[in-house]
Amino acid sequence: MSESEQSGRRAFLGATAAAAAAGLGFVALAPGMQLIKFAEAKAGMAGASSKVRWGMLIDTTRCATGCTDCVTACATENAIDPGSGRPGQSSQWIRKIELKEQSTGREISLPMMCQHCADPPCVDVCPTGASFKRADGIVLVDRHTCIGCRYCMMACPYKARSFVHETLTQQNPEVPRGKGCVESCTLCVQRVDKGQEPACVEACSKGDHTAMLFGDLNNPTSEIARRIATTASSQVRADLRLDPGVRYQGI
Ligand code: SF4
Ligand code: SF4
Repeated sequence: MSESEQSGRRAFLGATAAAAAAGLGFVALAPGMQLIKFAEAKAGMAGASSKVRWGMLIDTTRCATGCTDCVTACATENAIDPGSGRPGQSSQWIRKIELKEQSTGREISLPMMCQHCADPPCVDVCPTGASFKRADGIVLVDRHTCIGCRYCMMACPYKARSFVHETLTQQNPEVPRGKGCVESCTLCVQRVDKGQEPACVEACSKGDHTAMLFGDLNNPTSEIARRIATTASSQVRADLRLDPGVRYQGI
């Protein structure tokens, strides 16, 4: 999509958002203020550099069927209670998928979470700019501007997003969540900004699987970039051309 097409689309979405907000009874914006501007300001937020592109490489040959260490670590780090809410309505930022190759019978187990797309449709469709991409490629939702319309959930081809149906009680103060908002894997931005690995990656290493590798895709000397350059890897639904930051080996 060209730059002018993108700005036209943003202008349209900005106008739609203002109209939708007015119709739903939300506070009117001050004259001349555009919701989309907030997202653009956030995209260049402190701590995020466009020189970096954070990503993950998952080696499915090392990912054990039935192992849910990454899922448990994510829930603990982000204070997600998988048993909360009505059945089928709990948030899940990462899930395990078991696949079977029809021709060979080979079984593959892999974790699936937000793929932190370089060209994220969830951001494109968000009418308020609550869905946004940081300069370093991490895709987030600002719960203060999310109106819970769930357009992003429909737009995400990876089914990576959840809607919070219930009031939340116990939260990690570094990971603000809220009823009525959409949420998804943050790549553990609260840890990454402190120089730590995402919780799922750490748990995978501690469990001696080392199936998950986190790093800077833009830095040719990083382990993740070197492995991607020298070993075959793929993007899930590469045909959609969203350029996910999460890559897989062995699929
Ligand atoms: Fe958005 Fe889904 Fe891509 Fe994550 S995987 S950036 S939620 S479209
Ligand atoms: Fe969960 Fe963090 Fe892993 Fe994302 S990176 S799936 S938020 S533990």
